Amino acid sequence: MNKLLPTSTAGSLPKPSWLAEPEKLWSPWKLEGEELLEGKQDALRVALNDQRQAGIDIVSDGEQTRQHFVTTFIEHLEGVDFEKRETIRIRNRYDASVPSVVGAVSRNRPVFVEDAKFLRAQTTQPIKWALPGPMTMIDTLYDGHYKSREKLAWEFARILNEEARELEAAGIDIIQFDEPAFNVFFDEVNDWGVAALERAAEGLKCETAVHICYGYGIKANTDWKKTLGAEWRQYEAVFPRLRTSGIDMVSLECQHSHVPMDLIELLRGKKVMVGAIDVATDTVETPEEVAEVLRKALRFVDADKLYPCTNCGMAPLPRNVARGKLAALSAGADIVRRELSA
Ligand SMILES: [Zn+2]
Repeated sequence: MNKLLPTSTAGSLPKPSWLAEPEKLWSPWKLEGEELLEGKQDALRVALNDQRQAGIDIVSDGEQTRQHFVTTFIEHLEGVDFEKRETIRIRNRYDASVPSVVGAVSRNRPVFVEDAKFLRAQTTQPIKWALPGPMTMIDTLYDGHYKSREKLAWEFARILNEEARELEAAGIDIIQFDEPAFNVFFDEVNDWGVAALERAAEGLKCETAVHICYGYGIKANTDWKKTLGAEWRQYEAVFPRLRTSGIDMVSLECQHSHVPMDLIELLRGKKVMVGAIDVATDTVETPEEVAEVLRKALRFVDADKLYPCTNCGMAPLPRNVARGKLAALSAGADIVRRELSA
């Protein structure tokens, strides 16, 4: 990007009410068959247009074609039984009934490649595509086959790499891996988590990003956040290893976050997607509030490596709120861009 401070979102945007019940995660589809396929594509076009109207520079599909950022990908793979469910603890935070790994995992057909081609055909702007990261994937499953988190992660990394290469060929400019699990399992992140992520990104010539957040604004996450104390220093445990990794960009949350901004310094040299929009509140930031976060971040990241972004996905927000936040992000980045060129 030649433009300074190119804006983007972490990924998801709210779905239209005719496609899925709004303001809900995992919301079931309201259409089926051909109608669902067409409905998803229409929603993708609307999400793209919302970003375009707000002046977002790096656009996405708004994750309109998936029900959940991890599960939808896994549903397309072999080796996972969605009928055979076990209750496990997700990210040490809440219990959930999850599908089981019952055999060798593999990807017999592309998952999002057709969707990515469709998005590519709609716009000449740079596009970003989100995939789940290997560690976050294993954390949503019961593994009755490999019986090793690390082994399963390497298998998923191999599968993700197959998908990522095809997404790149479809014209995706930035492939982002979502790894909220990196904020929880620090030892594993440093032992093999980042290495597995690099395996997922192996051989890619497009840019690669990792999104590490404190999750959507759902109750299990906000309750967990209350236990983290006044200063959230989780990033401190993983940024040094990420800095030496082959991943180009790191997406993190900063608006209303308890993360000390100076931790970004640990990533010096990487491109940083700075979350300047809080996704856990319906209150729309003012452009000045966005600008303030970006100015603070500029003390620790070079201007040509700062990418203003949202803290996380906006799927659970009302649509008008999400649109307002997109516009605020754009206007806030504009304020700082003008300051930098003055
Ligand atoms: Zn997130």
